[in-house]
Amino acid sequence: MEKLLNKRVAVVGYGSQGHAHALNLMDSGADVTVGLREGSANWSRAEEAGLKVASVEDAVKGSDVVMMLVPDEVQPEVYEKSVAPNLRKGAYLGFGHGFNIHYNKVEPHQEVNVFMVAPKGPGHMVRRTYTEGKGTPCLVAVYRDVTGDTKDVAMAWAAGIGGRRAGILETTFKEETETDLFGEQAVLCGGVSELMRAGYETLVEAGYSPESAYFECVHEMKLIVDMVVEGGFTSMRSSISNTAEYGDYEVGKRIVTEDTKREMKKVLEEIQDGTFADKFCTEYKNGMKNLKGTREEKSKHQMEVVGERLRGMMV
Ligand code: NDP
Ligand code: MG
Ligand code: MG
Repeated sequence: MEKLLNKRVAVVGYGSQGHAHALNLMDSGADVTVGLREGSANWSRAEEAGLKVASVEDAVKGSDVVMMLVPDEVQPEVYEKSVAPNLRKGAYLGFGHGFNIHYNKVEPHQEVNVFMVAPKGPGHMVRRTYTEGKGTPCLVAVYRDVTGDTKDVAMAWAAGIGGRRAGILETTFKEETETDLFGEQAVLCGGVSELMRAGYETLVEAGYSPESAYFECVHEMKLIVDMVVEGGFTSMRSSISNTAEYGDYEVGKRIVTEDTKREMKKVLEEIQDGTFADKFCTEYKNGMKNLKGTREEKSKHQMEVVGERLRGMMV
């Protein structure tokens, strides 16, 4: 953390990750300015939390270390317009995810150090665990080291946001980007959401009550996953009944089949060769029409309505 204490730090963006990095670093003793666009609703929120706030241009101009925490798809334009013209030689440019560097969507000039600190959890968890005296694990990587101490700065950043309390792992931009995208698409977000939806619909279509279907296929997911996170699969299986364990072995492989794994390999190839990245950037250029349409449609699913009612009952 010492490596950051004599430096001025800018956090660009005050969303999920931005607010967490800015507040945690301030509480760790760093000199932090949040960079925001004019008219941002977050301007007063950050100020009320005790942070200095400036335009992105001014925040970058006055800083030695600049962390890009606006959404991946807007980083190229924010970088070109507001960051690059104000970034001094020998400054350190940080990212919370390797996407734009790995796929060459942002190409920082040669005199700038480039590093990554990617927390392995949502921003709100990065902030909450820090305030509880704990932390969120972080992946750290260096893409370009001009001044010879970029890794120290990256490590100091990760420590300052609380990462050292949970573990800091060194990686590369390529590995972080490709594994992060694969994980969220095939398993954590895409895979799990579709698995829960398909299970829920199968029960409801067979005439079971939406409430039972929701409990079995959605609500209980967390209980099982918590056991896996705490003690691994063997430990989770020692907690469930023998009936559940036997069913797990018999049926799991009928649901996630060799075909599923073949498709996962295709998904990974499309991440590796840049197909997914280009599709996502095109979607952004077209106004995110598909993303917004699907978001709207998914939010209306019966499972969401039932879930809201049940969560209300459980508090
Ligand atoms: P958010 O969507 O939460 O970022 C919102 C912030 O970006 C707001 O302050 C918003 O401004 C600002 N912003 C949005 N568009 C613009 C624009 N055109 N010009 C200037 N500012 C803009 O981002 P995340 O925190 O989700 O993601 C940030 C980075 O962190 C990404 O690289 C992501 O991959 C990575 N990451 C995210 C994780 C997460 O849990 N969300 C987990 C790990 C990494 P305003 O205040 O005006 O609304
Ligand atoms: Mg991600
Ligand atoms: Mg059960």
